[in-house]
Amino acid sequence: MQSNHVSAIIAAGGSGSRLGADTPKQLLEIGGRTILQLSVQAFAAHPRVTEVVVALPAALVGEPFPWLVPSGKTRVVTGGARRQDSVAAAFDAARADAEIVLVHDAARPFVSADLIDRCIDAARTHGAAIAATPVSDTVKQVVPDGAGYVVAGTIPRDAIFLAQTPQAFRRDVLARAIALGRSGTDATDEASLAELAGDPVSVVEGHSDNVKITTAADLEGARQRHAGATHMDRVGTGYDLHRLVEGRALILGGITIPSEKGALGHSDADVICHALTDAALGAACLGDIGRHFPDTDPRWKDASSTELLRHAVSMIREAGFDIANADVVVILERPKIAPHLEVIRANLAAVLAIDLDKLSVKGKTNEGVDAVGRGEAIAAHAVALLRHS
Ligand code: MG
Repeated sequence: MQSNHVSAIIAAGGSGSRLGADTPKQLLEIGGRTILQLSVQAFAAHPRVTEVVVALPAALVGEPFPWLVPSGKTRVVTGGARRQDSVAAAFDAARADAEIVLVHDAARPFVSADLIDRCIDAARTHGAAIAATPVSDTVKQVVPDGAGYVVAGTIPRDAIFLAQTPQAFRRDVLARAIALGRSGTDATDEASLAELAGDPVSVVEGHSDNVKITTAADLEGARQRHAGATHMDRVGTGYDLHRLVEGRALILGGITIPSEKGALGHSDADVICHALTDAALGAACLGDIGRHFPDTDPRWKDASSTELLRHAVSMIREAGFDIANADVVVILERPKIAPHLEVIRANLAAVLAIDLDKLSVKGKTNEGVDAVGRGEAIAAHAVALLRHS
């Protein structure tokens, strides 16, 4: 069945023996987050990726990673002895109606959203595509000569690309590759299996930042680069307006306010929740309320706006952020909102799972000016500040 679902498989079965650490490689930290967390969150936060299936070693499957929050996007399966076994196990658990399946090494925590995008697009066009980078060094073919190696020839540099991940496949192409692997063919990546199965694999230009953390030096380099580059707070803004009509309830921040008029909309038309949801999604660069909760989607048909806000917060947590604080201004002429602000704040702080002193809600009138001022509409503005969790 055709769909536009994109599944991402994160292969995280490696033992990390080359790093010489006691901790499994994927659980080593860079800037306060584990390598695994960074890799998973890069895909979980990507707007086109609809599910993430993480293949972990059996010993780690039971570990309750607090950041792997159950928003429904990320799942964990037990990996196998070899990388290809882990990918095959994750493939079995991934949705059968996916159009594109991405495979990514957990050891590449710095994959960018842009590279994920380009891999998806190339797989759509060509069936299979891998991120790969050209080489700048001259490449020598060598043979062992007893003591070491001797050069047997020089390989033209422009014929060489170094494979990275993500590797992206139309689902049927990856199914053929995995079937070939299961029939006894060994391979270090799924693209090799696809090549052997006769499917063309195109190349997307990878990025030098998309390093694979293999050695202790890689880890140290990644930590230094990360310390200089990230941990910026993120701010987002949201705005909403609905018409006010008779015969509708006025719901603000999940609370029904006594009023002659209520806000008109498909949903409960809760401008505070809508503006806050957009502010929080915007800060995480996760799109907006209309994209995630379209009024054509039966899942959200009768959902209250506080439920949408709660779901948006779980998406933000899954992308690696906490809400530091949020501030809302509601603009309406009638009724007076001041007597209700504390109830609204308490309700929303619970939805956002933040302390009350991190959420401000203020009321304002429009001094009789324009549609809001004439009492024909209600509007809200919100800002939210996110911090890396
Ligand atoms: Mg709205």
